[in-house]
Amino acid sequence: MKYAKRIDPGSKVKLKNEDPSESAGLSKEEGSAKLAELAAKIAELQELMSATSDHAFLVAFQGMDTAGKDGAINKILSYVNVQSARVQAFKVPTPIELAHDFLWRVHAVTPACGGMTIFNRSHYEDVLVVRVHNIVPEEVWKRRYDHINNFEALIADSRTTIIKFFLHISKDEQEQRLLDREKDPTKSWKLSVGDWKEREFWDDYQEAYQDALERCSTDQAPWHIIPANHKWFRDLAVAEVIYEAMKPFEKGWRDKLAALGATAKADIQAFKAGETAKPTS
Ligand code: AMP
Ligand code: MG
Repeated sequence: MKYAKRIDPGSKVKLKNEDPSESAGLSKEEGSAKLAELAAKIAELQELMSATSDHAFLVAFQGMDTAGKDGAINKILSYVNVQSARVQAFKVPTPIELAHDFLWRVHAVTPACGGMTIFNRSHYEDVLVVRVHNIVPEEVWKRRYDHINNFEALIADSRTTIIKFFLHISKDEQEQRLLDREKDPTKSWKLSVGDWKEREFWDDYQEAYQDALERCSTDQAPWHIIPANHKWFRDLAVAEVIYEAMKPFEKGWRDKLAALGATAKADIQAFKAGETAKPTS
């Protein structure tokens, strides 16, 4: 069962037609059990990826404020090996970042082979917040879709699997989450008047997201819409996509490890045989 919606290259995206409360008829308990199974499999595959160091995984999260980017990333970190996974957040660019092209800061932190890097926001902010607030002129941000596609093609061509998630919540759910945050003292560090201000631009953001999803979903770097009103379903849908993306590599990784093991064992045997053949004095 496919829980996330993969955007086929060239297809139209209408976020209004995508149900953010989708849960595929599963109960929360059923969903959690399925997630536990997928999580164990992903952990095993990630170990193989790390051990063979032939591929890298880049997982990017985008979504409106409160959509659950932090929560979804925390969930992934609860089941992958954090020695070969890292998180990279993208904030308002610094002066030095702004003095470069918009992909400079992104390219510097893409994962090396063997690693998984999870982006909390990404280069897509440069066609989202930047577009909604006219931070650069339209003719500048319009050219960025092609730049993004070319950049992603380059890193995909360098053994990096790219997975992009749009966490889709409803406007009502966002309001509820913002209000809940205000009641929870442990979440006070997340409170920001900016979130309420940005909410006024909801429709502009949805339009900007639609364009980004339509123009930048490619075979090598597809977008996935994740129904995210239910946190447990969001986590399940994310895990399923990651698992499906890793699975095709499993045999190659196992074969490479078997070959590495055979070579190392032959070396050890030769060394031990040499040791026993040595005259003792
Ligand atoms: P948060 O994810 O809540 O820590 O907020 C990070 C803020 O940085 C968000 O308001 C983003 O829209 C903003 N941001 C990230 N990338 C950019 C960018 N390239 N240009 C402008 N603002 C950005
Ligand atoms: Mg925020």
